[in-house]
Amino acid sequence: MPRVLALANQKGGVGKTTTAINLGTALAAIGERVLIVDLDPQGNASTGLGIDRKSRRVSTYDVMVGAHTLAEAVLETAVPRLSVAPSTLDLLGVELEIASERDRAFRLRNAIVKLHEAARLSGEEGFSYILVDCPPSLNLLTINAMTAADSVLVPLQCEFFALEGLSQLLKTVEQVRAALNPRLGIHGVVLTMFDPRNNLSNQVVEDVRQFMGDKVYDTIIPRNVRVSEAPSHGKPVLLYDLKCTGAQAYLRLASEVIQRERALQAA
Ligand code: ADP
Ligand code: MG
Repeated sequence: MPRVLALANQKGGVGKTTTAINLGTALAAIGERVLIVDLDPQGNASTGLGIDRKSRRVSTYDVMVGAHTLAEAVLETAVPRLSVAPSTLDLLGVELEIASERDRAFRLRNAIVKLHEAARLSGEEGFSYILVDCPPSLNLLTINAMTAADSVLVPLQCEFFALEGLSQLLKTVEQVRAALNPRLGIHGVVLTMFDPRNNLSNQVVEDVRQFMGDKVYDTIIPRNVRVSEAPSHGKPVLLYDLKCTGAQAYLRLASEVIQRERALQAA
């Protein structure tokens, strides 16, 4: 099975999508076969990977309602070894549509298992990592991501309210672990949009390390204008400007993620 990481934080604008795109690209660059599942109705991960609305013929909405398989939604991107299952605004209505189904929390998990089985039967290599880009809410979509995941990767923005909401998120992870997915753990917390000239940024790093200990990755993603420009070109920052500090940080994060995975597998 691929390693499935849910990128979750119920706050918007903390770097979930940016991390999905660029961590995914960095993992692909070092040889992993990566699928990004866009589970946010806004579809920013799909757009940021250069997938225009017209090409989203099968979306994660279709997968969640059971009209199509995940394999049918998968599109290749400009990055070798990186694919995306795009989302559309239809996903906004999915929660109501599947609310009364018994398997409502397992839709994504079942779709991923089926994708893996199909790859195995046809002798294909399949994906080694699946990154799920969650919406900014602890709704049924995020629950589906956590139920499907081996672990949760939490982006936290280096700003004053960084820790606010984190306990709620951790509680949700606990609840999903207890009720739906005993495998679920916290992979790590990645601090994003760090500004070294801002004392507050430094304070936040200290506070988060105090609170989350070694769950916090050593790599900190700096605030970097190239990172925010890249999506409007439909490119990951690693393709847009490989040398910039943001791209380099995401490469370091990818190797840290892989190191942690190896340690988890060995344990
Ligand atoms: P989320 O998915 O959590 O809502 P995004 O990844 O979309 O957050 O990021 C929110 C905004 O911040 C976007 O406009 C994005 O381009 C910008 N951004 C994210 N990370 C960085 C960074 N390291 N440097 C500069 N801008 C960033
Ligand atoms: Mg997002």
